[in-house]
Amino acid sequence: MPAPPFDRFLRYAELTDTLHGFARDHPGLCSVASIGRSHEGRELWLATVTNAATGPADEKPAFWVDGNIHATEVAASAATLYFLHTVLTQYGTDADVTRALDTRAFYVLARSNPDGAEWALADQPKWIRSSTRPYPLDEVAPEGLVVEDVDGDGLILQMRIPDANGLWKAHPDDPRLMVRRAPAEAGGSYYRILPEGRYDGYDGHTLRIKRAKEGLDLNRNFPASWRQEFEQLGAGPYPASEPEVRAVVDFIVNHRNITGGTTFHTWSGVLLRPFEHLSDDEMHAEDLWVYQALGREGERRTGYPAISVYHDFRYHPKDVIGGTFDWLYEHLGAFVWVVEIWSPMREAGITDYKYIDWFRDHPPGDDLKLIRWSDEKLGGIAHKGWRPFDHPQLGRVEIGGWNRFHAFSNPPPAFLEREIARFPSWIVWQALVSPKLELVYAGAERAGGGEGDTWKVTLVVQNTGWLPAYVSKRALARKTVRGLVAEIALTDGATLVVGKARDEHGQLEGRAHKHTGVSFWPDYHVTDDRLKLEWVVRANAGASVDLVARHEKAGVVRAKVTLS
Ligand SMILES: [Zn+2]
Repeated sequence: MPAPPFDRFLRYAELTDTLHGFARDHPGLCSVASIGRSHEGRELWLATVTNAATGPADEKPAFWVDGNIHATEVAASAATLYFLHTVLTQYGTDADVTRALDTRAFYVLARSNPDGAEWALADQPKWIRSSTRPYPLDEVAPEGLVVEDVDGDGLILQMRIPDANGLWKAHPDDPRLMVRRAPAEAGGSYYRILPEGRYDGYDGHTLRIKRAKEGLDLNRNFPASWRQEFEQLGAGPYPASEPEVRAVVDFIVNHRNITGGTTFHTWSGVLLRPFEHLSDDEMHAEDLWVYQALGREGERRTGYPAISVYHDFRYHPKDVIGGTFDWLYEHLGAFVWVVEIWSPMREAGITDYKYIDWFRDHPPGDDLKLIRWSDEKLGGIAHKGWRPFDHPQLGRVEIGGWNRFHAFSNPPPAFLEREIARFPSWIVWQALVSPKLELVYAGAERAGGGEGDTWKVTLVVQNTGWLPAYVSKRALARKTVRGLVAEIALTDGATLVVGKARDEHGQLEGRAHKHTGVSFWPDYHVTDDRLKLEWVVRANAGASVDLVARHEKAGVVRAKVTLS
C-alpha cells in the first residue's frame, strides 16, 4: 500500500482501509482490531504495534496513543496515522524505532470519536464539540442561531451586522479586520458578529446561539475528577457512560502494561501535563521531576512548550476541568500528555502569548499579524473578506472573517505533514524510557546430596528502563501496580524444598530518581534495579525447571534451567 495522504483529512471509510492496510503490509509488526463501537455503531479501530517475533504486546511495556476525541480536531487522527506510518516504515532502519518495537508495544486508537469527525468532514459539515448523542436533552431549542454554511460556499465563517451599539469596528489599518471598540468610544460604525448560520425564530431585536442538542464532551466523561453537568458541562450522566469512553477505559484497565500515553487534540501548539485540577504542590515530587524531564525532551523534539494545565492552560482563572483523559495519570499513575497540535499565533509570528488567555484579551496588533500571515502564507484562507449576503431570516448581512475549521482548528493541508511530523520521535523516546524487565542470570548449583540431589536455583532480573518498574509514585500510592511475580515450574518428579511455586516480590527501581553524578550523598541501594530470586529444588541431575518473572508494567522474563 502506498503511504497514506498527509495533506488532507480521512473520512471513516478511508481511515479504516488505511489502518487495515498497515496490518496487511506489516503483519509481523502491526495488528488491527476493534475495541468497541461508537454511539452510531462505528468500530473503534485500535492498532497494536510491536515486533511479534520478540514476544506478544501484552508481555511488554506499552504506550498508549489516541486522537480526535473532539469532533472537529481531525488533525489529531492524522497525527496517529503519521505515527503508525513512521514507526512501521522506519523499523529496521531507525535504531530507536527498531529497539522500541522489539522491546515495547504501542496501542494506537486512531480516532476516538468517529461519529463526530464524520460530521465535521461531511460535504455539508456540522460542527459539534464531541459525541453525536443528544445530551442532556433530545430536543432542539425553538429559537436561535444554528451554525451552518448558510451561503453554500463550503465554509463556515462569520456574519457581521451593522449596529450602533455593536462591540466591533474595523481596524484603521485594515478594514477587513474586526477589533474591539474602545471602552468610552461612541459615534463610529460598529457591528455585531455571530457565527455563520441559519436563524430560527428571529424576533427582530435579540440574537442568541442555540445550545447544541449534542451537548456531550467525551473528554469530560472519564472517571477521574468527574463532575455532574451543573459543575462540568458535557460530562454525561455518569463516568464512562459513553460507549467511546467506556471502550477506552475498559481496554486500558485490562492492559496493565500501559506505562504512559499521548492523546492528540488541536490546537494551541502545546504539550499539556497533569494536573488539571490541582497545583504541582499536590504531585509527588519524583513524579513532577519525571514530568519535567519528559517535558524538556518533548520541547526539544517537538518545538512545543510543555506546561501544566492547572498552572498555565486555564479557560478561566477560577475554574478547573475534570473528567478528562488525565484519568490515566490521576487514577492509574501512567504518565499522560495531551498534545494540542498547531499554533496559528506562533505561525503568524506572535511569539510571546499566553495560550488560552490570549483568546480573552490580546492586542489588535496580533490580529494584524494573523491576517497578514493569512494573506502571505495561506493564500488568504484564514481570513476571508466580507461579502454582502441576503440572509433568509436576518436580511442583509455580510459573511466573511476568520475561517476557524481550515486555519485554526486544524493545520491547513500544506502545513499538516510538517506539523504532525514533530511527534513520532518523542513518543518513541517516551516508550524507550519506560521500565523493561530483563534477564541477568539464571542457573543452578548442587546444594547437597541425600535422597535425590538438591539444587539451588537462582534467577536474577533487572529493570533496564529509566523509569522504575512501578512507573510513578502515584501508581504506588494508589496501589494500582503490584510487585514482581516469580514462578517456578517443576517437571520430571522434581519437588520444591525452599521457596514458593509462585510468589510476589518487591519493586525494581530505575535510573530516573538517582541523583546526578556530582551529588555526594551515597546511593545505599546501588543495585535496586535488580532482584535476586532463589529456590531449592530436589531433583535428579538432568531435570530442568522453568522460571518466569513477571512485572505487569515492565514485562516478562522466562528462563529454562537444566540441573547439572
Ligand atoms: Zn480537544
